[in-house]
Amino acid sequence: MGLNIVVLVKQVPDTKNVTGKAMKDDGTVNRAALPAIFNPEDLHALEAALRIKDAHPDTRVNVITMGPPAAAQVLKESLFRGADFVALITDRKFAGADTLATSYALSCAIRKIGAVDLVLCGRQAIDGDTAQVGPQTAEKLGMNQITCVSDIAELDAKKRTISARRSIEGGFELVKAKLPVLLTVTDEGFEPRPPSARRVMMYKNAVASASNDASYDECYMNASACADDDIIALWDIASIKADPEACGLAGSPTKVKKIDSVVLTAQDIRMVDASESGIAALVHELIADHTIG
Ligand SMILES: Cc1cc2nc3c(=O)[nH]c(=O)nc-3n(C[C@H](O)[C@H](O)[C@H](O)COP(=O)(O)OP(=O)(O)OC[C@H]3O[C@@H](n4cnc5c(N)ncnc54)[C@H](O)[C@@H]3O)c2cc1C
Repeated sequence: MGLNIVVLVKQVPDTKNVTGKAMKDDGTVNRAALPAIFNPEDLHALEAALRIKDAHPDTRVNVITMGPPAAAQVLKESLFRGADFVALITDRKFAGADTLATSYALSCAIRKIGAVDLVLCGRQAIDGDTAQVGPQTAEKLGMNQITCVSDIAELDAKKRTISARRSIEGGFELVKAKLPVLLTVTDEGFEPRPPSARRVMMYKNAVASASNDASYDECYMNASACADDDIIALWDIASIKADPEACGLAGSPTKVKKIDSVVLTAQDIRMVDASESGIAALVHELIADHTIG
Protein backbone atom coordinates (compact mmCIF):
# COMPACT_ATOMS: atom_id res chain seq x y z
CA MET A 1 0.00 0.00 0.00
CA GLY A 2 1.53 3.30 -1.10
CA LEU A 3 1.86 6.39 1.03
CA ASN A 4 1.57 10.06 0.23
CA ILE A 5 4.76 11.74 1.47
CA VAL A 6 5.78 15.40 1.48
CA VAL A 7 9.44 16.35 1.86
CA LEU A 8 10.29 19.95 2.81
CA VAL A 9 13.60 21.12 1.37
CA LYS A 10 15.39 24.44 1.57
CA GLN A 11 18.03 26.08 -0.60
CA VAL A 12 20.71 27.55 1.66
CA PRO A 13 24.00 29.43 1.26
CA ASP A 14 26.97 27.07 1.51
CA THR A 15 28.46 28.28 4.76
CA LYS A 16 31.42 25.89 4.40
CA ASN A 17 32.43 27.29 1.03
CA VAL A 18 32.62 31.05 1.38
CA THR A 19 34.21 32.64 -1.70
CA GLY A 20 34.48 36.20 -0.35
CA LYS A 21 33.15 38.44 2.42
CA ALA A 22 30.11 36.59 3.80
CA MET A 23 28.46 39.70 5.30
CA LYS A 24 28.02 43.08 3.61
CA ASP A 25 28.85 46.26 5.51
CA ASP A 26 25.13 46.84 6.21
CA GLY A 27 24.96 43.50 8.06
CA THR A 28 23.00 41.60 5.39
CA VAL A 29 24.22 38.35 3.87
CA ASN A 30 26.38 38.71 0.75
CA ARG A 31 24.70 35.93 -1.27
CA ALA A 32 27.14 36.41 -4.18
CA ALA A 33 29.97 35.12 -1.95
CA LEU A 34 28.01 32.08 -0.82
CA PRO A 35 27.09 29.47 -3.42
CA ALA A 36 23.57 28.05 -2.95
CA ILE A 37 23.21 24.38 -2.03
CA PHE A 38 20.58 21.83 -0.97
CA ASN A 39 20.33 22.02 2.83
CA PRO A 40 22.40 18.95 3.84
CA GLU A 41 19.91 17.33 6.26
CA ASP A 42 17.08 17.80 3.73
CA LEU A 43 18.93 15.43 1.37
CA HIS A 44 18.73 12.80 4.15
CA ALA A 45 14.99 13.52 4.57
CA LEU A 46 14.52 13.04 0.81
CA GLU A 47 16.48 9.78 0.96
CA ALA A 48 14.23 8.53 3.79
CA ALA A 49 11.19 9.20 1.59
CA LEU A 50 12.78 7.51 -1.45
CA ARG A 51 13.60 4.40 0.63
CA ILE A 52 9.94 4.17 1.68
CA LYS A 53 9.03 4.41 -2.02
CA ASP A 54 11.55 1.64 -2.82
CA ALA A 55 9.72 -0.59 -0.31
CA HIS A 56 6.19 0.57 -1.29
CA PRO A 57 6.43 1.45 -5.01
CA ASP A 58 3.02 3.13 -5.32
CA THR A 59 4.13 5.77 -2.81
CA ARG A 60 4.17 9.39 -3.98
CA VAL A 61 7.14 11.53 -3.01
CA ASN A 62 6.14 15.21 -3.22
CA VAL A 63 8.85 17.81 -2.58
CA ILE A 64 8.09 21.41 -1.61
CA THR A 65 10.34 24.41 -1.16
CA MET A 66 9.47 27.98 -0.30
CA GLY A 67 11.91 30.50 -1.68
CA PRO A 68 12.83 32.77 -4.60
CA PRO A 69 12.68 31.43 -8.20
CA ALA A 70 16.35 30.29 -7.97
CA ALA A 71 15.30 27.79 -5.27
CA ALA A 72 13.80 25.68 -8.09
CA GLN A 73 17.31 24.21 -8.37
CA VAL A 74 16.79 22.08 -5.22
CA LEU A 75 13.55 20.81 -6.77
CA LYS A 76 15.38 19.81 -9.95
CA GLU A 77 17.93 17.97 -7.80
CA SER A 78 15.03 16.22 -6.05
CA LEU A 79 13.65 15.11 -9.44
CA PHE A 80 17.13 13.84 -10.40
CA ARG A 81 17.12 11.63 -7.28
CA GLY A 82 13.59 10.25 -7.68
CA ALA A 83 10.89 12.70 -6.53
CA ASP A 84 7.51 12.26 -8.24
CA PHE A 85 6.17 15.79 -7.86
CA VAL A 86 7.80 19.09 -6.93
CA ALA A 87 6.32 22.50 -6.12
CA LEU A 88 7.97 25.90 -5.65
CA ILE A 89 6.11 28.17 -3.23
CA THR A 90 7.03 31.66 -4.28
CA ASP A 91 5.44 35.09 -4.00
CA ARG A 92 6.75 38.55 -3.15
CA LYS A 93 4.39 38.48 -0.15
CA PHE A 94 6.47 35.65 1.43
CA ALA A 95 9.58 37.89 1.62
CA GLY A 96 10.92 38.56 5.12
CA ALA A 97 9.26 35.45 6.60
CA ASP A 98 10.44 34.27 10.03
CA THR A 99 9.95 30.65 11.08
CA LEU A 100 6.31 31.23 12.10
CA ALA A 101 5.38 32.67 8.70
CA THR A 102 7.51 30.05 6.87
CA SER A 103 5.82 27.13 8.66
CA TYR A 104 2.40 28.71 8.04
CA ALA A 105 3.02 28.95 4.27
CA LEU A 106 4.42 25.40 4.16
CA SER A 107 1.43 24.05 6.10
CA CYS A 108 -0.95 25.73 3.60
CA ALA A 109 0.96 24.09 0.72
CA ILE A 110 0.77 20.68 2.46
CA ARG A 111 -2.99 21.16 2.97
CA LYS A 112 -3.30 21.79 -0.79
CA ILE A 113 -1.75 18.36 -1.39
CA GLY A 114 -4.53 16.87 0.75
CA ALA A 115 -4.38 13.57 2.63
CA VAL A 116 -0.73 13.20 3.54
CA ASP A 117 0.66 10.25 5.54
CA LEU A 118 4.16 11.53 6.28
CA VAL A 119 5.94 14.87 6.20
CA LEU A 120 9.74 14.68 6.26
CA CYS A 121 12.08 17.58 6.74
CA GLY A 122 15.60 18.28 7.87
CA ARG A 123 16.13 18.85 11.58
CA GLN A 124 17.81 22.18 10.93
CA ALA A 125 18.75 24.51 8.08
CA ILE A 126 22.42 25.54 8.06
CA ASP A 127 21.62 29.23 7.54
CA GLY A 128 18.67 30.07 9.83
CA ASP A 129 19.69 27.26 12.20
CA THR A 130 16.60 27.44 14.39
CA ALA A 131 15.23 23.87 13.94
CA GLN A 132 11.77 25.39 14.45
CA VAL A 133 10.16 25.01 11.05
CA GLY A 134 9.48 21.23 11.29
CA PRO A 135 7.84 21.26 14.75
CA GLN A 136 5.87 24.44 13.95
CA THR A 137 4.56 22.92 10.69
CA ALA A 138 3.43 19.77 12.56
CA GLU A 139 1.62 21.92 15.14
CA LYS A 140 -0.17 23.89 12.43
CA LEU A 141 -1.28 20.68 10.71
CA GLY A 142 -2.30 19.04 14.03
CA MET A 143 0.08 16.16 13.24
CA ASN A 144 2.16 13.96 15.51
CA GLN A 145 5.87 14.72 15.30
CA ILE A 146 9.11 12.87 15.99
CA THR A 147 12.23 15.04 15.91
CA CYS A 148 15.95 14.24 15.35
CA VAL A 149 15.23 10.96 13.53
CA SER A 150 18.19 8.90 12.29
CA ASP A 151 16.32 5.72 11.29
CA ILE A 152 12.85 4.33 10.69
CA ALA A 153 12.69 1.01 12.53
CA GLU A 154 9.21 0.04 11.32
CA LEU A 155 6.53 1.52 9.11
CA ASP A 156 3.22 -0.34 8.96
CA ALA A 157 1.14 1.26 6.22
CA LYS A 158 -1.92 -0.94 7.04
CA LYS A 159 -1.94 -0.32 10.80
CA ARG A 160 -0.80 3.25 10.07
CA THR A 161 1.97 3.25 12.64
CA ILE A 162 5.64 4.19 12.54
CA SER A 163 8.55 3.49 14.89
CA ALA A 164 11.48 5.86 14.55
CA ARG A 165 14.87 6.04 16.24
CA ARG A 166 15.60 9.53 17.52
CA SER A 167 18.89 10.81 18.81
CA ILE A 168 18.98 12.13 22.34
CA GLU A 169 21.86 13.28 24.49
CA GLY A 170 24.05 10.27 25.20
CA GLY A 171 22.05 7.76 23.17
CA PHE A 172 18.81 7.21 21.28
CA GLU A 173 15.20 6.29 21.89
CA LEU A 174 12.61 4.46 19.82
CA VAL A 175 9.37 6.40 19.45
CA LYS A 176 6.17 4.93 18.04
CA ALA A 177 3.51 7.20 16.55
CA LYS A 178 0.34 7.00 14.52
CA LEU A 179 0.27 8.34 10.98
CA PRO A 180 0.04 11.05 9.82
CA VAL A 181 3.32 12.13 11.34
CA LEU A 182 6.03 14.70 10.69
CA LEU A 183 9.65 13.57 11.12
CA THR A 184 12.65 15.89 11.32
CA VAL A 185 15.68 13.99 10.05
CA THR A 186 19.36 14.31 11.02
CA ASP A 187 22.39 13.47 8.87
CA GLU A 188 23.26 10.38 10.96
CA GLY A 189 21.35 7.92 8.76
CA PHE A 190 19.72 7.75 5.29
CA GLU A 191 22.94 8.37 3.32
CA PRO A 192 21.65 10.22 0.23
CA ARG A 193 21.75 8.37 -3.10
CA PRO A 194 23.47 10.13 -6.03
CA PRO A 195 21.32 11.65 -8.80
CA SER A 196 20.32 9.12 -11.45
CA ALA A 197 21.95 9.81 -14.84
CA ARG A 198 18.71 8.79 -16.62
CA ARG A 199 16.65 11.20 -14.52
CA VAL A 200 19.18 14.02 -15.01
CA MET A 201 18.70 13.63 -18.78
CA MET A 202 14.90 13.59 -18.33
CA TYR A 203 14.65 16.63 -16.06
CA LYS A 204 17.67 18.78 -16.86
CA ASN A 205 15.46 21.36 -18.60
CA ALA A 206 12.67 21.32 -16.01
CA VAL A 207 11.20 24.77 -15.38
CA ALA A 208 8.64 26.10 -12.95
CA SER A 209 5.31 27.10 -14.42
CA ALA A 210 2.39 28.77 -12.67
CA SER A 211 -0.64 26.58 -12.16
CA ASN A 212 -3.01 29.38 -11.03
CA ASP A 213 -6.19 27.78 -9.68
CA ALA A 214 -5.26 24.19 -10.53
CA SER A 215 -5.76 21.62 -7.78
CA TYR A 216 -2.90 19.41 -6.55
CA ASP A 217 -4.31 16.48 -8.59
CA GLU A 218 -4.35 18.58 -11.77
CA CYS A 219 -0.79 19.81 -11.08
CA TYR A 220 0.32 16.22 -10.42
CA MET A 221 -1.25 14.98 -13.68
CA ASN A 222 0.34 17.85 -15.61
CA ALA A 223 3.77 17.16 -14.07
CA SER A 224 3.50 13.43 -14.78
CA ALA A 225 2.55 14.11 -18.42
CA CYS A 226 5.60 16.28 -19.27
CA ALA A 227 9.02 14.74 -19.37
CA ASP A 228 11.32 17.72 -19.40
CA ASP A 229 9.54 21.04 -19.06
CA ASP A 230 6.74 22.65 -17.04
CA ILE A 231 7.23 19.93 -14.45
CA ILE A 232 7.84 22.19 -11.45
CA ALA A 233 4.51 23.49 -10.11
CA LEU A 234 4.69 27.14 -9.11
CA TRP A 235 2.30 28.03 -6.30
CA ASP A 236 1.70 31.58 -5.15
CA ILE A 237 -0.10 32.87 -2.06
CA ALA A 238 -3.56 32.60 -3.67
CA SER A 239 -2.86 29.13 -5.00
CA ILE A 240 -2.18 27.73 -1.50
CA LYS A 241 -5.07 29.78 -0.01
CA ALA A 242 -2.77 31.48 2.51
CA ASP A 243 -3.82 34.58 4.45
CA PRO A 244 -1.47 37.40 3.31
CA GLU A 245 -1.52 38.84 6.86
CA ALA A 246 0.06 35.62 8.19
CA CYS A 247 2.78 35.53 5.49
CA GLY A 248 6.13 37.24 4.98
CA LEU A 249 7.03 40.30 7.02
CA ALA A 250 3.37 40.92 7.94
CA GLY A 251 3.09 37.52 9.59
CA SER A 252 6.52 37.58 11.28
CA PRO A 253 6.63 38.68 14.92
CA THR A 254 10.45 38.25 15.01
CA LYS A 255 12.26 41.54 14.52
CA VAL A 256 16.03 41.60 13.94
CA LYS A 257 17.31 44.53 16.00
CA LYS A 258 21.02 44.26 15.33
CA ILE A 259 23.44 41.80 13.75
CA ASP A 260 26.96 41.42 15.11
CA SER A 261 29.67 39.64 13.19
CA VAL A 262 31.53 37.59 15.81
CA VAL A 263 35.09 36.62 14.95
CA LEU A 264 36.71 34.47 17.63
CA THR A 265 40.38 35.07 18.33
CA ALA A 266 42.71 32.78 20.27
CA GLN A 267 42.21 34.96 23.37
CA ASP A 268 38.45 34.19 23.33
CA ILE A 269 39.07 30.46 23.61
CA ARG A 270 39.63 28.91 27.03
CA MET A 271 40.25 25.30 27.81
CA VAL A 272 38.29 23.91 30.75
CA ASP A 273 39.46 20.92 32.73
CA ALA A 274 37.21 18.00 31.70
CA SER A 275 36.61 17.00 35.33
CA GLU A 276 33.54 17.45 37.53
CA SER A 277 35.19 20.29 39.44
CA GLY A 278 36.36 22.02 36.20
CA ILE A 279 32.85 21.94 34.75
CA ALA A 280 31.27 23.03 38.06
CA ALA A 281 33.62 26.05 38.16
CA LEU A 282 32.64 26.97 34.58
CA VAL A 283 28.90 26.68 35.36
CA HIS A 284 29.30 28.91 38.44
CA GLU A 285 31.16 31.49 36.37
CA LEU A 286 28.45 31.49 33.68
CA ILE A 287 25.71 31.86 36.33
CA ALA A 288 27.63 34.70 38.00
CA ASP A 289 27.90 36.72 34.77
CA HIS A 290 24.22 35.92 33.89
CA THR A 291 25.08 33.98 30.71
CA ILE A 292 22.90 31.16 32.05
CA GLY A 293 20.46 30.77 34.91
C1 LIG B 1 12.66 38.94 10.82
C2 LIG B 1 13.18 37.89 9.89
C3 LIG B 1 13.20 38.18 8.54
C4 LIG B 1 13.69 37.22 7.66
N1 LIG B 1 13.69 37.54 6.37
C5 LIG B 1 14.15 36.65 5.48
C6 LIG B 1 14.15 36.97 4.09
O1 LIG B 1 13.76 38.03 3.68
N2 LIG B 1 14.63 36.00 3.23
C7 LIG B 1 15.08 34.81 3.71
O2 LIG B 1 15.49 33.97 2.88
N3 LIG B 1 15.06 34.50 5.01
C8 LIG B 1 14.61 35.38 5.91
N4 LIG B 1 14.63 35.06 7.21
C9 LIG B 1 15.08 33.73 7.63
C10 LIG B 1 13.88 32.79 7.67
O3 LIG B 1 13.06 33.06 8.74
C11 LIG B 1 14.32 31.38 7.85
O4 LIG B 1 15.25 31.10 6.83
C12 LIG B 1 13.18 30.41 7.69
O5 LIG B 1 12.08 30.75 8.48
C13 LIG B 1 13.57 28.99 8.04
O6 LIG B 1 14.10 28.95 9.35
P1 LIG B 1 15.44 28.16 9.58
O7 LIG B 1 16.36 28.50 8.48
O8 LIG B 1 15.85 28.39 10.97
O9 LIG B 1 14.96 26.66 9.35
P2 LIG B 1 14.97 25.41 10.33
O10 LIG B 1 13.81 25.50 11.24
O11 LIG B 1 16.32 25.22 10.93
O12 LIG B 1 14.70 24.31 9.21
C14 LIG B 1 14.29 22.99 9.53
C15 LIG B 1 13.78 22.33 8.28
O13 LIG B 1 12.57 22.94 7.86
C16 LIG B 1 12.49 22.89 6.43
N5 LIG B 1 12.46 24.27 5.90
C17 LIG B 1 12.91 25.40 6.48
N6 LIG B 1 12.70 26.46 5.67
C18 LIG B 1 12.11 25.97 4.56
C19 LIG B 1 11.67 26.54 3.33
N7 LIG B 1 11.78 27.85 3.07
N8 LIG B 1 11.11 25.73 2.40
C20 LIG B 1 10.97 24.40 2.63
N9 LIG B 1 11.39 23.79 3.76
C21 LIG B 1 11.95 24.57 4.70
C22 LIG B 1 13.73 22.17 5.93
O14 LIG B 1 13.43 20.80 5.83
C23 LIG B 1 14.71 22.42 7.07
O15 LIG B 1 15.74 21.45 7.15
C24 LIG B 1 14.16 35.98 8.13
C25 LIG B 1 14.14 35.71 9.48
C26 LIG B 1 13.68 36.66 10.36
C27 LIG B 1 13.71 36.34 11.81
